[in-house]
Amino acid sequence: GGFLEKLSLKGGKLSLHSTVVQAVNGISLDILEGETLSVVGESGCGKSTLARCVIGIHTPDSGEVRFRGNRIDNLTPKAMMPYRAKMQMVFQDPYSSLNPRLTVQKTLEEPLRFHNPGIKNGEVKDRIAEVMEQVGVDPMWAQRYPHEFSGGQRQRVSIARALVVDPAFIVADEPISALDVSVQAQILNLLMETQEKRGLSYMFISHDLSVVRHISSRVAVMYLGSLCELADAETLYAEPRHPYTKALLSAIPKLNGEKSHISLKGEVPSPINLPTGCVFHGRCPHADTRCVQEIPEAKPCGTGLVACHRVEEGVL
Ligand code: SF4
Ligand code: MG
Repeated sequence: GGFLEKLSLKGGKLSLHSTVVQAVNGISLDILEGETLSVVGESGCGKSTLARCVIGIHTPDSGEVRFRGNRIDNLTPKAMMPYRAKMQMVFQDPYSSLNPRLTVQKTLEEPLRFHNPGIKNGEVKDRIAEVMEQVGVDPMWAQRYPHEFSGGQRQRVSIARALVVDPAFIVADEPISALDVSVQAQILNLLMETQEKRGLSYMFISHDLSVVRHISSRVAVMYLGSLCELADAETLYAEPRHPYTKALLSAIPKLNGEKSHISLKGEVPSPINLPTGCVFHGRCPHADTRCVQEIPEAKPCGTGLVACHRVEEGVL
């Protein structure tokens, strides 16, 4: 059944300095129980804004977010409280997302007490030890500060902070891209093991299709605030349909070392001045006049959705 049953957003705005740009353009997605939906695109494509709209840190102009059937995008902070615990976020940079003045104990205790008023001290201690154990940080280190840990360990603490309130859904925004390559796989494995143990659903944000290949149930590809393609992971990697997905995939070296790089024309345009028609038309090797004039709608295609006139016309 649907988990985030209806997530349709229009005009999630992002202010960069004083200029407000449209970061999310009529996106419609759902996330199923226990699945990992990865959202992939180059920086500035609106994927972080999308994540923040989902979790309620950011308000879209229109559209709605439903959590297990209940609309949550228009709730008061108080009414939103029970959902807050159920939806947690893990951020990219474990150096800036942990408060340097709080011990691990305090870092975990704060959200735990906030969401469980009246919880007994003994239970706080037990829950913290349990969750530290689960993420692979020795509970003996509960009195240590973030600067005493490595980047990988800090990200484990961030994951513990998300888990301690017993969420059902975690948005992970580039959770490994600030880490040493040597620990990236460990953190990915930890996230996957935790998902299995706790039956969690994930929305995993990444700029790199190769990173999410083995962890995704489905993948959504975004470009300049618009959804290009959504498909089962297996289908997306084997038979990409959208020209942008094809270009992103062609940049990943194959196992035999072979590359089939599709080079795109030009650069990513400024989101302040969005192109007409298909936002990808200036860079697409298949663009024609219709692409310059008409915005392609995301239409059912294969296992998901594709927003491309020429795929719809059967040309691609
Ligand atoms: Fe390329 Fe046109 Fe499809 Fe956009 S709609 S991806 S410009 S072919
Ligand atoms: Mg981002």
